Amino acid sequence: MIEVEYYRRVAERTVGRTIARVDAPDDWYLKGGTTAPALRRTLRGARVMDTRRIGKLLLLDTDAATVGLRFGMTGRLLVDGSGPIEKLEYSSARQEPAWTRFALRFDDGGELAVVDPRRLGGVVLDPTLDHLGTDALAVRERDLRNALGASRAPLKAWLLDQGHVAGVGNLLADEILWRAGLDPARRADSLDPHEVMVLHRALGRTVRLLTKRGGSHTGDLQVARVRGASCPRDGAPLERRTIGGRTTYSCPVHQR
Ligand SMILES: [Zn+2]
Repeated sequence: MIEVEYYRRVAERTVGRTIARVDAPDDWYLKGGTTAPALRRTLRGARVMDTRRIGKLLLLDTDAATVGLRFGMTGRLLVDGSGPIEKLEYSSARQEPAWTRFALRFDDGGELAVVDPRRLGGVVLDPTLDHLGTDALAVRERDLRNALGASRAPLKAWLLDQGHVAGVGNLLADEILWRAGLDPARRADSLDPHEVMVLHRALGRTVRLLTKRGGSHTGDLQVARVRGASCPRDGAPLERRTIGGRTTYSCPVHQR
């Protein structure tokens, strides 16, 4: 979600501009029943009014419809040829024309383009948002407490479920739990009110800190994501497990 927030800021440059042409050359990249003719028909002549982000989903609101953009691990957003690329580790600065999966060309000659070598992202016209939880930066402590209390899932898996809190990916989840001192394998409903408060605080602080630093790979635990590494806080050997289907690093000493 941190990377997507950078893209949202880049996309802000399109607000107020009018779409003259839509390029959607890759049917596989269109999701949720979206088709290239529908995109062209709906968006041609439309004006971009606003940008939003919910978790990892970027929304472009036009006066005709909303366009939802997902970037996967390798997608990038460029507006008028530039993006926040210097901040991102996943994507190379290299560009092949064939990697442009979706583009809006504006009547002023500029464009918004999604470049994605591995096609892990996607474009949806008027995406349904019901399945998305509250964005990680907006979730309230009380709602977090109630939602955690209703689940027996391991904390890490719970955090990764975009239907609970939207926007937390694998690296971010490990960093948040490491900062909160909570064991990723703990059952969600086992947290006491104080622990929920600590988790809520760690969620907001970690997202804001890593956004400032430059991405979800800039956490303090990141350097320790190798076999045999030790906890940057207390020096204990870190534990490496698979939780929620994802590789998980945690400290057996201070994460309880
Ligand atoms: Zn530790």
